[in-house]
Formats: sequence, structure tokens, C-alpha cells
Amino acid sequence: MSIYDLTLEELIEYFINNNDKKFYATELFSWLYNKDKRITSFDDATNIKKEVRDRLKKDFVISNISIVTVEKAKDVRKYLFKLNDKEHIEAVLMYHDYGNSLCISSQVGCNMGCKFCESGRRKKVRNLTTGEMVEQILKVESDADIRISHVVIMGIGEPFDNYDNICNFIKIINHPKGLNIGARHITVSTCGLVPKILEFADFPYQVNLAISLHAPTDELRKEIMPIAKVYSLKDLINAIKIYLEKTNRRVTFEYIMIDNVNDSEENALELVHLLKGINSYVNLIPYNETDALQYKRSKPLTIAKFYDILKKNNVTVTIRREFGGMISAACGQLRSKKEEL
Ligand code: SAH
Repeated sequence: MSIYDLTLEELIEYFINNNDKKFYATELFSWLYNKDKRITSFDDATNIKKEVRDRLKKDFVISNISIVTVEKAKDVRKYLFKLNDKEHIEAVLMYHDYGNSLCISSQVGCNMGCKFCESGRRKKVRNLTTGEMVEQILKVESDADIRISHVVIMGIGEPFDNYDNICNFIKIINHPKGLNIGARHITVSTCGLVPKILEFADFPYQVNLAISLHAPTDELRKEIMPIAKVYSLKDLINAIKIYLEKTNRRVTFEYIMIDNVNDSEENALELVHLLKGINSYVNLIPYNETDALQYKRSKPLTIAKFYDILKKNNVTVTIRREFGGMISAACGQLRSKKEEL
């Protein structure tokens, strides 16, 4: 087990169960997460006595992932990691004027099967552990010599299909003695697993929720996202309404713009209708084309028209700024290249 799998509460429990002083937990957290410490061996945690360090060595490993390649462009770095079982995952670092954000992966492969998605071409092999997600941040911070201020769980995988680990991950990175990343700077993106959205409404952290909508009608959504066959838009919107009521937080709807698939003026009007009265904001994302899939990006003019229709109808909308177009873009392409899928 990785030491990064444990929340502070779990670490306290570990020390108590071993009849050790519980303040070792906060000490150790600081050795692991404090930017100036970040130990790579338990022996470096010098104020923890040897006997306890030896037990830690027996019970935990520190690192489980390593960087394989880094592709660099002006405002973006794309990391390919290798896991202990030789699987690969990716994370993308984006430099913004407001800080540095990291898009992390939550699973090896993904079972959601969205037709347009490169990552979904490979079925889920396994969930990432909490520690493997935490380590994506640690490794990037150390490689790029920066501090990550924002985290989005939008890399490979469906976070709500790895729910418990995601929640622990959020607890660790948000904790003041952990990575101290503000809850409002953390975003979970889901293709819409309704029961988990409802469960997440009771998760007591003020994190952001993004929903991959991508289509305004069930008919169209079913064509591109198999999950729409399990949960209708009615179910999804109802769950979101409950989430909004409980959390008082605005949700984001992601809508990738795919040429001739979901980008007509009629689609825009259907979207306006669907989102009426919902405290939300729509992020239009120009589709990232990938070699293996036939989908094309909407034309700039079409995107502009779509945007205008939403705007005119009082939907809060932005067009996502693009990163990484030149470097295998986002969305599982680096891993595919590596494994030649
Ligand atoms: N499974 C989660 C998170 C990972 S996908 C989810 O569905 O939200 C992150 C986002 O990237 C999703 O909105 C997904 O639909 C989108 N995406 C997938 N392939 C893409 C592509 N080729 N271009 C642009 N966005 C893409």
C-alpha cells in the first residue's frame, strides 16, 4: 500500500492502532506534503523515531508511479506516467495567469465508451488508487518546479466509477496539512452517473462539479454516449437539481463541439430549453480530433453561432481556451501513442 493512499484521519487511526502517538500522523503528513520536505524515504522523517519508521517501511511504499515522458509547449506540459504494474496514464499541466492547473487521470482505461473519446477506446483495466492520483500532482510539482493551484479530474477514466478513492483524494489534496488546494479549485468531471451525483451532493467539500453533457436530447446523446441509455436526461437534470439545492453550487456543463453531430442551431435552442432555470454555466469545447476516430471539430463560425444563441437566451457560456493542440492534445492520445492501440 502507498502512504499517499491515506487521509490524515486514516493515518491517525493507523498510529493509534499501533499504539503510537497520534501526532506522528501530522508530522508524517508534513514530511510527505510540505513543499520543502517531500521525503522519498521514511528514514528522512527524522523526528519520527526509528522503530516507527521501520514499521512504516514494512507497511507502506512511498512511490508507485514514475514519469516516462514529458511533452512541452508554451503553456502546457503533458506527462505520461508508468504505474507499478506497467500500465500508463497521463496528466496535463496548464499554466494560466491565475495559477497552474493539473488535469489528472482517475482510471486505467474507461468503461463509459463515449464514441468520440480516445481514452474510451480501451476498456477499464482498473481504478487508480488514491495514492496514484495524489502522486500525479507531486511528480508534476517537482518536475516543473511549481505549485499546482487547481486540479481537474478530467483525464483518463470516469471519476464517479472510482468514487471512494476520488473522495479520499480530494480530502488529502484539500487538507491544509496536505497539499492545501482549495476545494473551489478542484473540479470533478463526470459523464453523468446519476446515483453518484446524488451521493456527491452530500460530500461536505465545496468542490466544483462538471457534467459532460455533449448533447441536448436523449436521442442524440444515446448515439455518442452509451451512459445515456442508462440515465435519461430527465434523470440527469433531476439529480443536478437536487445537487444544486443541497450544495448551492453552480454546475458546469461541458459541451464538445463536433462538426455536424451536435452543433446545429436547433441543438443550441434545445440546449437552452434543457437548461432553463438551472444555475449552471456551459463550457463549449472545440473537439480535439484524433487519428483513430472520424469525428471532426466544428467550424469556428458554427461555434460562434452556437455561442451567440446561448448568450442571447441568457445561458452563461464560455468557449474553452485551447491547450496542447500541438502536443498530442489531451484525452488519452499520449498513452495511445505509447501503446500503439
Ligand atoms: N469521464 C469523465 C472525465 C474524463 S473525460 C467525463 O466524462 O467527464 C474529460 C472531458 O473530455 C469530458 O467532457 C469528455 O467528454 C471530453 N473529451 C473526450 N474526448 C474529447 C476530445 N477528443 N476532444 C475534446 N473533449 C473530449
